[in-house]
Amino acid sequence: MPGPRLAVFGLDCAEPTLVFERFREELPTLRGLMDSGWWGCLRSCDPPITCPAWMVMVTGRTPGELGIYGFRNRTDRTYAGLGLATSKWIKTDTVWDVLGRAGKRTVSFAVPLTYPPKPVNGCQISCWLTPGPESAFAYPPELKDEITRACGPYIPDFKFRIEDKDEFYRELQKATENHTAYAEWLLKNRPWDFFMSVEMGTDRIHHGLWKEFDASHPRHEKGNPHQGKMLSYYKQIDTNLKRLLAHVPDDAWVAVVSDHGIKSMAGGIVFNEWLIREGYLTLKKRPEKDTPIGKCEIDWAKTKAWGDGGYYGRLFLNVRGREPQGVVAPADADALRRELSAKLEALPDESGRPLGTRVLWPEKIYPRVEGIAPDLIVYFGDLSWRSMGYVGGPGAAKIYTYENDTGPDDANHAPDGIFILSTKARIASGTRGAGEMQGLKIHDCAQTFLKLMKVPPSEMVGGVPFAFTPD
Ligand SMILES: [Zn+2]
Repeated sequence: MPGPRLAVFGLDCAEPTLVFERFREELPTLRGLMDSGWWGCLRSCDPPITCPAWMVMVTGRTPGELGIYGFRNRTDRTYAGLGLATSKWIKTDTVWDVLGRAGKRTVSFAVPLTYPPKPVNGCQISCWLTPGPESAFAYPPELKDEITRACGPYIPDFKFRIEDKDEFYRELQKATENHTAYAEWLLKNRPWDFFMSVEMGTDRIHHGLWKEFDASHPRHEKGNPHQGKMLSYYKQIDTNLKRLLAHVPDDAWVAVVSDHGIKSMAGGIVFNEWLIREGYLTLKKRPEKDTPIGKCEIDWAKTKAWGDGGYYGRLFLNVRGREPQGVVAPADADALRRELSAKLEALPDESGRPLGTRVLWPEKIYPRVEGIAPDLIVYFGDLSWRSMGYVGGPGAAKIYTYENDTGPDDANHAPDGIFILSTKARIASGTRGAGEMQGLKIHDCAQTFLKLMKVPPSEMVGGVPFAFTPD
């Protein structure tokens, strides 16, 4: 089938200051694409988290329109806690749906929030949310056995918040080589006009080895044995990309993208301890040990708000007529949100210095708010601090912590990812690129991909193509 082709290689969490600056000279494949093409920081969505960010990239819809505010979302107004998002939550078209209807063959591998896989005009292998190699991870279903025979059992993800950093790095290598083999096999053995793969390893190594790598991290140990692994891994990614590009035609567009970046985590705010101290949240009984808020005994009749954890803080109001035992009158909810926003933004760090917390109101940042959004989205220390989702045991009412509640992790997401676009032909001919581009947004990628493919935009896809999109 004639027409342009596009291969998108996603590197989850790939950090612009590393790819564009610090490691640039050590990454010949990425540097070749940059020098011959277009590149720049790619602004992520709010919140800058894998789910929803990749779906924002491929649908052109905001998290509010998708109704996805993280991996975990409230699924109803009860106090039952948060449920995990799956591909079934995506009700809108992705670029591969639009391209498939235009007769283009699409292949996607491990794009976050594609489990379970859905029918496409081509094939799809689902993402890191795939429970294991025995799960139904492929469309069409028979692809699973064929690719497993050729490349070995699929390793969707691995346990990355562990103390043993040697074991972490071994598992990371295994998973990355497995993913590269899968992507290479698909490029070689399945026809495609649009190809997209996402490697999660770049995210995992940031979370697993950031303090070992980053000399400015408050808990960095100079001369630690893992310091050089970050660069080694980025070089491995660059070499793997070269291997994959061998199967991409010279004139096909090649994009390398990330969904957000990374920064040091200074610490964590135990959100619910703060809400208890400020009188918004009342427990019936303090738990015996640190316990996730969803498992605590809360006195709902005396609770106006509760919080949950993750890369950012989710604040929920207990509204009368909306939550089962709501106490906040609907007419008072906005005044309460203003009060909480002001207090949260004024919260200092432990030594009294400003923390720089930002509070976002969903209806002010999204054109529509589907599903159940947090009433407030809280970026503690502008995402340098995580939100801890637990309540402490007896006598443990501490608001500041320097341990992560979901296992060792010293990094948090930053809002800028990367975008690089070129072709192998441009590299081979020595064509000079346009240099660094400004103002690129993840929300505009879907339209940009369609424009590169010369397929008319669908009304189902939001955003606008990048201003510099080449013809
Ligand atoms: Zn991510």
